[in-house]
Amino acid sequence: MIQSERQLTSVYAEIAVDSPLHRTFTYHWHSDLTVGARVVVPFGRHNGEKLGLVLQVSKDKPKFRTKSILSTVDEEPIFSESLLRLAKWLSSYYFHPIGLVLKTMLPGSVSKKKTATIAPTELGLEEMTEGRLISQCLSYIYKNKKTLSRETFLKRLNQWSSSEAEVVTLDQLLGEQLVEVETIQKLSLRTQREKNGVADPKSSQPSPVTIEYTRGQRVALEALKTKRAQNRPFLLLGPTGSGKTEVYLSFIAHLFSLSESSQVLVMVPEISLTPQMSIVFEKRFPGMVAFVHSALEDSERWDRLAEVRRGNLRILIGPRSSVFAAFNSLSAIIVDEEHDSSYKQGSGLRYQGRDVAIVRGRYESIPVILGSATPSLESFQNARLDKYQLLQLTERANRLAMPEISILEHEVKPMISQNLGIALEETEVPIHPSILESLEENHKNGQQSMVIVNRRGFAYFLYSKQEKKAVSCRSCDVTMTLHKKREQLVCHYCDERVPLARVVGRNPNDFIAVGFGSEQVEEFLAQAIPSAKISRMDSDSTAKKGSLETLLSAFRNKKIDILVGTQMLAKGHDFEKVTLICLIEVDRMMSLPDFRAGERTFQLMVQAAGRAGRGSLPGRVLLQTGMKDNKVIKHAIRHDYKTFAEEELTFRRENFFPPFVKMLCFEFSSESHDQLSRYCLHLEVLLRRLFAENGEMVRQLQVHGPVPPPIEKVRKHWRRCLLMTSADVMGLRRFAELMNSELKKAPSSIKISIDIDPQTLI
Ligand code: ADP
Ligand code: ZN
Repeated sequence: MIQSERQLTSVYAEIAVDSPLHRTFTYHWHSDLTVGARVVVPFGRHNGEKLGLVLQVSKDKPKFRTKSILSTVDEEPIFSESLLRLAKWLSSYYFHPIGLVLKTMLPGSVSKKKTATIAPTELGLEEMTEGRLISQCLSYIYKNKKTLSRETFLKRLNQWSSSEAEVVTLDQLLGEQLVEVETIQKLSLRTQREKNGVADPKSSQPSPVTIEYTRGQRVALEALKTKRAQNRPFLLLGPTGSGKTEVYLSFIAHLFSLSESSQVLVMVPEISLTPQMSIVFEKRFPGMVAFVHSALEDSERWDRLAEVRRGNLRILIGPRSSVFAAFNSLSAIIVDEEHDSSYKQGSGLRYQGRDVAIVRGRYESIPVILGSATPSLESFQNARLDKYQLLQLTERANRLAMPEISILEHEVKPMISQNLGIALEETEVPIHPSILESLEENHKNGQQSMVIVNRRGFAYFLYSKQEKKAVSCRSCDVTMTLHKKREQLVCHYCDERVPLARVVGRNPNDFIAVGFGSEQVEEFLAQAIPSAKISRMDSDSTAKKGSLETLLSAFRNKKIDILVGTQMLAKGHDFEKVTLICLIEVDRMMSLPDFRAGERTFQLMVQAAGRAGRGSLPGRVLLQTGMKDNKVIKHAIRHDYKTFAEEELTFRRENFFPPFVKMLCFEFSSESHDQLSRYCLHLEVLLRRLFAENGEMVRQLQVHGPVPPPIEKVRKHWRRCLLMTSADVMGLRRFAELMNSELKKAPSSIKISIDIDPQTLI
């Protein structure tokens, strides 16, 4: 009787479980469940506990036997309907299991089960003020903190028991429901709000603005206001310093004036998440902005996101993952520097944050604005086809001219003589004398400069004269970079570090350091211009938490005269006092075996140049290159994005590259070279069969591979790539699905991953 009553009230839920299987699972539960909330379920043959997310709830009993959910986690949904829809899209578009998609969408700790902690229940908290023995015990245990790891809890319980000669056990406390065991981070929204003292969103007002907009800004704003409901993304194309940020700010203020609850997501490349951006937004929208970035602790990030989800904070600024954030009332998404490569995730769910933003905008019927001085060719082509609405700013906002870019011819010598197989000795950093002079002069005039070198470390590699070859990584098919200060050789692919002394032993003269990176340029300039304060900014010098901010603020406050660094320097920063930018090495970037090499070089040059002359003084750029006749370089010098883009698009169209075709890449890897080779032979047979069987689907399909990529071995794994392109998107996807299901039969020694719309072919 009891049994059947329970059956009657049971609900059946479709649950996405944190597992690599491409499917969902059905479980039952004895009372109502919230769609979009987390639950704990038994999973697999041994019924291990796993975290799951409720996708759908139904009263209909399925025909098969179901297991019961073990416990619910959230009272309110952590994903809205439209985010769940987005998750399903991500799973299908990127061929990624739904459970893992949802896991990626959740910020760090919330998606994981954690080590068990023990916390007092409400009853336990009340009890602590009572005079009972057990209450004294609880108060002793929870003197400072309200959550303790199981180990700490037990230790303190023991301490108390032995000092009081009274034994209280965990079972006893659990039995009386005075404490509970937690294995999942719960949402404690109420307390967070109280703790942070967040202002009521409705009482906060944007600060008034006094600037006069340029004509371009006015036209763009007008279009945004009148056409925002058209459900067509906007591409805001404007040179660096043309006031794009100002357009975003003004549009946001407009949206806020229309509705008291509306919220906006502003996506920015990780590196621009510096105080600069927060200051600009906080100033205009005081008390309304939430900032998230990778340096935050998981719990801190989660707290800020919770405020956004509740609608208490109205603007969320964050990197690519913020595209998954839940909002109370999202009304627009802005993707700043939309061309930036950091929007693409490199492993796991390899999504492109900008593209996900577009899809999310469509699902939520809200405008999406992509902004850049150098849009990706994908976005520009969409604007040409009128899929995106193009908004253009043509001049710099403060009426300053674009910085002039001058070429200093410089021949790049091969680092290893092809014929002799020996390294050519480089006795000094090949910096053009004019660059040195200009840096010195700029410093004498009290102005700041930046020097951009496209590689970190001291030297490209260490060449052994005895062995007639460069020192390579044990696990990867690449040479190791010399880091002189740390006295190490470092592999930039697997991060393996070997002490320099161990490599050179007693014969340092048998080795030559070849090529140069940011560390060597810093050292060289410090010797050449001793009166200047020189610092370096790259991922080595900013690895420590907070060091990037310290460096940037020192530069902003003129404590540094010359900042040497990698591409990181070229992105988004707005330093008023920088009047000289030197680009030491674009040639190697241009020569990379990737069809996007030209696009990347153009972007780097124009973005780097854009850092100069943003204040009242004009800026200039010196480019050291041996490729002065290269068309990409010529267009970049004139800051001529449109001509560059038109020519590049012609090249892409003629050579069947994106955006004219869709591209995807299957990657196979294995620790065993033999097994991988054998599997690739099998793949070739499989491909031939699938081609023969699927005439129409493969008509426009081009398959390249499986071939070893330029870096054949990474982290002890040999790699092969199978690249597929087609102008027929549906055909390509259907073929990839077929392949994917065939690949499920692959031996476990072969790892397989798919990269949809790959951004790099190296
Ligand atoms: P972008 O985002 O296009 O690189 P910003 O919005 O950062 O450009 O603007 C560059 C500089 O010009 C900023 O210091 C900004 O305050 C200023 N600015 C923007 N719009 C105007 C305007 N209409 N009049 C004067 N200064 C402006
Ligand atoms: Zn390595």
